[in-house]
Amino acid sequence: MPIASCNDEGAQALTERARELRQQDPPAALALAEQALARARAQDDAAAVAAGLLLCAELHHDLSDYDRGCERAAEALERFGRLPDLAGRIDSHEVLGKCHEKLGRGREALAHHQASLEQAQALGDAGRTGKALLSLGILRYDESDFAGAIAFYRESLEFARARQDAHGQGRALGCLGNAYERMGEYARSLEHHRQCLQQFDEQRFPRERSFALNNIANVYIALGEQRQALAFHAQSLQLKRRLQDRWGEGTSLQNLGFCHLHLGELEQAQQYLQESLAIVEAISDREGLCMIRQGLGQIAAQRGDLDTAAQSLQAALQLCTGLGDRYNEVFTRLCLGQVRRRQGRTDEAFDELRQALRLSDDIGTRRLAQKLHDELAGLCEQTGDAAGALTHLREAYRLEREVFSEDLERKLQHLRLHFELERSEKEKELHRLRHVELAQANQDLRRSNEQLAQANQQKETLLRTLEKQKRQLQRQSTRDALTGLHNRRHFDRELARAFRAARRYAHPLSVVVCDIDDFKKINDRFSHQTGDEVLKAVARLLVRHSRKTDVVARYGGEEFALLLTNTPGARAFAVCEKIRRLIAGHPWAELHPGLQVTLSMGISDDLSGADHDGVVAQADKRLYRAKHNGKNQVVFEQ
Ligand code: GH3
Ligand code: MG
Ligand code: MG
Repeated sequence: MPIASCNDEGAQALTERARELRQQDPPAALALAEQALARARAQDDAAAVAAGLLLCAELHHDLSDYDRGCERAAEALERFGRLPDLAGRIDSHEVLGKCHEKLGRGREALAHHQASLEQAQALGDAGRTGKALLSLGILRYDESDFAGAIAFYRESLEFARARQDAHGQGRALGCLGNAYERMGEYARSLEHHRQCLQQFDEQRFPRERSFALNNIANVYIALGEQRQALAFHAQSLQLKRRLQDRWGEGTSLQNLGFCHLHLGELEQAQQYLQESLAIVEAISDREGLCMIRQGLGQIAAQRGDLDTAAQSLQAALQLCTGLGDRYNEVFTRLCLGQVRRRQGRTDEAFDELRQALRLSDDIGTRRLAQKLHDELAGLCEQTGDAAGALTHLREAYRLEREVFSEDLERKLQHLRLHFELERSEKEKELHRLRHVELAQANQDLRRSNEQLAQANQQKETLLRTLEKQKRQLQRQSTRDALTGLHNRRHFDRELARAFRAARRYAHPLSVVVCDIDDFKKINDRFSHQTGDEVLKAVARLLVRHSRKTDVVARYGGEEFALLLTNTPGARAFAVCEKIRRLIAGHPWAELHPGLQVTLSMGISDDLSGADHDGVVAQADKRLYRAKHNGKNQVVFEQ
């Protein structure tokens, strides 16, 4: 959503939205957070100002701007203190600690993380306690106190597990993996990194996933699998660039540089390290700078440019002693010792290597110790100290055997990890495909259901219309439109049926044919409309005075027909006489002054003919006779 469209949004809501964006798009999140902060300040909303400051600090940290991060977090801390908002204070301490740590200010970092831990514990806030523990562990790690770091990490992991917090678990697992890697426990390291990667999917945690990929690559490097490492680092670099994580980008570039260095590809190694150098200088990442100096020193040494190498390594040494990074101090001194030996400056070489050995014993790195003893043995030999050479060789041999015996197990673990990583990727892809297909199928189903429902509705409407039409048609086909009486067709059909039944069961049946007298004159004298009214009135009278079972029909223009079932002619005659009188005595003048209507009727109950036509013909003949005899009469003769 474009930022300009959130004018009516409150500062708190804006901050919330920025927070949601933090993982996916930190620069956009920062822009939103700054906007939220400005709005909160304009509205004088103290809580929103503090929240905005904190989020800005966190985003500056994520975007490797540690100085700004410190500034914002310090202001947030002060504001949360005034509110007061204890959780806000804890979070501010956390960010301050992390920024100081990145700037190499261990003491300040420690103070903030400790404050954050104490306050989280006092508040009984398990989530924040776990976070603080992890940060304290990272400080120990930075000081190469791996065992100490692991204790903090484990405790933090327990907190995250108890809360089923995927993010917290993933972070703790990744940190444990790093610590084990530094201790040379590659099998454990890989196992933890593998579990870490499972917690961080690309959708929800792209940033953390980029770190996890990075860490796995580092273990591959330690295992001598440089090509594998390159692939993981490249994936990680891509994510970091997408997230505009400058610190992460610098680190990935360093890692790629070191991979190439280990592969003896000095040109590419130098390129990556130079690229990284520009970034770490821009963001004052001293740790990164230390690694780059160390790497460039090794490159120069391999090229035989010993002066440049010594210069670079010394710069690195200064940086890592300043940072308290003893592991890298040991390694840098080892490299520097080698360079000094090659320069023929054996005293300095001894000095570096012995200092490194003392340090490595402190921090317990057997691999480095073995290399140092090996190097020292060579140096003793070079200076004619056979006894010294033997002692160092023995020590190097012992360490090598120790490390070697672990190699078999490590190789197995490595294969397992490789296999499981591949499987997890495949499963993820399968899951994704299944998801996509399912979603598509669901959508299709929904659409076709909708279409079906629509079609059904149309069908129902159509059916209703058709039924109505059918009823109308049926009515039209059996009824006369003007009078509502049955029509001639219906009458004939009913008569045919009644005729057959009467014959079979020997029941009587009468047919009456009626004709209005001088109807033509009525039309002429009064109007066609009056004629129509007369037809309707006669029809009503006929229906009213016949039984329900009788069929009354309009047989032609002004002719009607009656079908009287179960009625012999004599009774039909009585019925017809009654009707005739009723019609003749009807107050027709009400319809039109001077109007008079009479009816002539012919009856037949003769069922002896071949079919029903005979009955109608006889009734018709008798009607004719009634007309002939003077109209307004009923004729039935046996
Ligand atoms: P009769 O007494 O001999 O039956 O003489 P009539 O005038 O009734 O008989 P005729 O057959 O000469 O005339 C019937 C008239 O009925 C002719 C026709 O215009 C009229 N007619 C037929 N159907 C309708 C109708 O639906 N409405 C009206 N108003 N007149 C109709
Ligand atoms: Mg007629
Ligand atoms: Mg007539």
